Amino acid sequence: MAPDTTAAAATAGLPQERRLVTAVPGPRSAALHERRRGAVSDGVASTLPVYVADAAGGVIVDIDGNSLIDLGSGIAVASVGNAAPRVVDAVQEAITHFTHTCFMVTPYEGYVAVAEKLNEVTPGSHAKKTALFNSGSEAVENAVKIARLATGRTAVVVFDHAYHGRTNLTMALTAKAMPYKAGFGPFAGEIYRMPMSYPFRDGLDGKEAAARAISQIQTQIGAGNVAAVLIEPIQGEGGFVVPADGFLPALSEWCTANGVVFIADEIQTGFCRTGDWFACDHEGVVPDLITTAKGIAGGMPLAAVTGRAELMDAVHAGGLGGTYGGNPIACAAALAAIETMEAEDLVGAARGIEAIARPRLEALAAETGRIGEVRGRGAMIAVEFVARGTTDPDAAAAGAVARACHAAGVVVLTCGSYGNVIRLLPPLVIGDALLSEGLDVLADAVRGL
Ligand SMILES: *Cc1c(COP(=O)(O)O)cnc(C)c1O
Repeated sequence: MAPDTTAAAATAGLPQERRLVTAVPGPRSAALHERRRGAVSDGVASTLPVYVADAAGGVIVDIDGNSLIDLGSGIAVASVGNAAPRVVDAVQEAITHFTHTCFMVTPYEGYVAVAEKLNEVTPGSHAKKTALFNSGSEAVENAVKIARLATGRTAVVVFDHAYHGRTNLTMALTAKAMPYKAGFGPFAGEIYRMPMSYPFRDGLDGKEAAARAISQIQTQIGAGNVAAVLIEPIQGEGGFVVPADGFLPALSEWCTANGVVFIADEIQTGFCRTGDWFACDHEGVVPDLITTAKGIAGGMPLAAVTGRAELMDAVHAGGLGGTYGGNPIACAAALAAIETMEAEDLVGAARGIEAIARPRLEALAAETGRIGEVRGRGAMIAVEFVARGTTDPDAAAAGAVARACHAAGVVVLTCGSYGNVIRLLPPLVIGDALLSEGLDVLADAVRGL
């Protein structure tokens, strides 16, 4: 391919190209995979067992020397590009000063600066405060703790196809049994699952879908018992399900009217991914609490709960925290990642990715008859595979397309309650030529079904 001359590629430290020198996975990866099988729990699976040597911008280079196009960003994490220059510099600078003191013991400025930044960039202009954690699951658990304590109520409403994590409480909040929940119970109580707005499968507009969910909440739980409604504004693992317009605003209004805390889980959708800073911004929805992680720190582990100051401050001193939460190196990385998003207009970049990908995927759907719907926003786009001429989920097709992409050197991920969705989460800095080449490979794989 022609060299990629975009500004993003120029800042990335590796040639931004797809280059295969062995089969994928190659012999070195295969050997390391054997070694891993002797040491690592089989309960931890890998989508594509090529072992990584380097990654930068939009490529991953494996230990056999293959350069793969990254359309997954390590599950929406490396949004600013892998080993993004500002993040690398900030981490290297921070690590020479101290690696850990524990913010709950002797605090430091980076944590405060990240909290200020999150209070500023998250939806809404009300007074906000933030607490930092290590993982998305931990942020969700803490958002639920805060909502319960602040309201004095216990019930938590979640939705079909939801994914909120793998810890005990978040397993209960997550919808899908395999692989996330099966055999791991008993689960936490007082969790109530309601129908999601899923226009491709329910045919309802946003108002109708919200009325259906709200009526079930009122009859099955009672508004006065509900501490929180917890929802991903665009569902991630559940299949990139985009609720119909009006669904989120109606839920949020109902929450406000009933003293219920509206929690937006933006762990996958946040930080420019959907072509807005946060997916809630698209319809002007202002959550009471928002959980963030994944894209927040350019690959360093960090998560947050940000929300209305009076809710965040309802908790007694010591009620929130954790040994590593808001690690100083991760905080430095987050400040650098957010600066990158602002300086390089990654909101605009995400919209640019959609402008390239969506028409290509829609044409592919029309041409092949195997894609029931192209959906998502910004750089969070998916195709849902169906049996030809029906809406019946076709997981085998999604699996075959993913395998063909992997063999051709393009990292794509599957998702969906029915396992029939291929999702694209490219780094927002990916060059146009590299993205187009990745889409060419995907198109060939779908045509080959
Ligand atoms: C990934 C994810 C989580 C869990 O985050 P971890 O860091 O894996 O614990 C929670 N919610 C959503 C929407 C996610 O995409």
